[in-house]
Amino acid sequence: MKTTKIEWTDKTWNPVTGCSKISAGCVNCYAEVMARRLQAMGQNKYKNGFQLTLHEDVLSEPLSWKLPHTIFVCSMSDLFHKNVPDEFINKVIAVIKLTPHHRYQLLTKRADRMAEYFQNHPIPENVWLGATVENQSEKGRIDFLRDLNASVRFLSCEPLLEDLGELNLENIDWVIVGGESGTSARPMKEEWVLSIKRQTEIQGSAFFFKQWGTWGSDGVKRNKYVNGKLINGKIYQAMPA
Ligand code: SF4
Repeated sequence: MKTTKIEWTDKTWNPVTGCSKISAGCVNCYAEVMARRLQAMGQNKYKNGFQLTLHEDVLSEPLSWKLPHTIFVCSMSDLFHKNVPDEFINKVIAVIKLTPHHRYQLLTKRADRMAEYFQNHPIPENVWLGATVENQSEKGRIDFLRDLNASVRFLSCEPLLEDLGELNLENIDWVIVGGESGTSARPMKEEWVLSIKRQTEIQGSAFFFKQWGTWGSDGVKRNKYVNGKLINGKIYQAMPA
């Protein structure tokens, strides 16, 4: 059963919470807003607010999920943050290996550390590895990702902040694109989205358009649900083969 609003996954698992900002995509971090809200509500797991915290006690959660799920790991953090020790990542990977009936999505803005970690550790078959690329200056993350021997390599271009220009999508199976939401959201232009879509079609990556966000395809700021997720009247939400 789907227990998250994130459209490209069906469950989240957060053995790490809290993070620190590393690039432009982090400016309006949703995880930070949520962590502070949950802290204010008195949730014990978020007693440290957005400070990076390891949660040994939730490591075993996926073992109790008997039905297969697609699980986004660390939606409230970044597993490859420098303050997450390799030993803790090893524990996360051990649980992933113990639960081959699940599929795990590891998405990071620290693709350099992810690549370094997986140089010394095999990648389980049920892991998809992803990197966020929100603007041109973060395109280098794709090069760290492309050579990793994962069953699926994916990009999250969300929030898309500018035209990414030419993309080398060699070995990239899946590209997710989305605009920012919230009152401080930065605009995303239709031509930036169409450029990525066109390049996925030419280079053979699956294309998943999540949402326009607060700024519609017409450049007007309004409720994200009204702006929706159609491109020229169609939904494009392909999953990798
Ligand atoms: S890496 Fe992700 S979780 Fe960490 S601050 Fe940036 S947007 Fe937030």
